Amino acid sequence: MTQPAQQQTAPAQQPTNQQAVLAAATVLATAVTVAEAAAMLAPVFLAMKIRREALTAALGVVMDRPPDRTGFYGPATAQIARLNLIRRAQFMVNSSRRFNETLARVAAGGADPRELLAQMAAERRYYGQHQEAVWNRMQAAAVVDSRVMDYGPLLGWYSVNDRRTSPECRRANRHNFRADDMPSIGFPGAVHPHCRCWPGPPVPGAAVLPGGQGLPTRVSRRTARRLAEAGV
Ligand SMILES: [Zn+2]
Repeated sequence: MTQPAQQQTAPAQQPTNQQAVLAAATVLATAVTVAEAAAMLAPVFLAMKIRREALTAALGVVMDRPPDRTGFYGPATAQIARLNLIRRAQFMVNSSRRFNETLARVAAGGADPRELLAQMAAERRYYGQHQEAVWNRMQAAAVVDSRVMDYGPLLGWYSVNDRRTSPECRRANRHNFRADDMPSIGFPGAVHPHCRCWPGPPVPGAAVLPGGQGLPTRVSRRTARRLAEAGV
């Protein structure tokens, strides 16, 4: 006996990773408690065969330390706030998959349940590193926004040039960029850890660094509106 209907519909019903990340981003922007967020996301994650315990554990990691909110958003910090939220959602989805794998092994008798505690500690450490990158990007964006107040949205990119300068920072030196269209390498000061680049007055006649790489392009209008309503 064949089951044509099931075979045709089952794969289409499973949410893609991107859909899960966007759903998680929307919920992380608004939910206050882990239980509330888990209730909202459980259907999407169950459809991806991720157990609720794994989802709850991953939410616990990322919601235990919510990102700092700043009172003022200019064009650069607004983009970074959205980017950081998407990255936090991506981390949560990946973390839930890692917890899910361990839970499956424990359930099958192939792993010691104490392994989950070790994994929780490792995920928290990993998320702490992620938070440092979030903070660095936000600091760099805040400097860009204060230069926007001085010079407008078109700014110049300046880098310290010595043996430690990375190739991408060297290439960006004395080019221009738009604060409202983040360059593909990020904002000056946040290209990589210890980036020493800074934003300044636009360089007359210099090329503008390509932008448009900072955010996933396929964020739906509905998701964008919900993120905006949530203040991110
Ligand atoms: Zn740099």
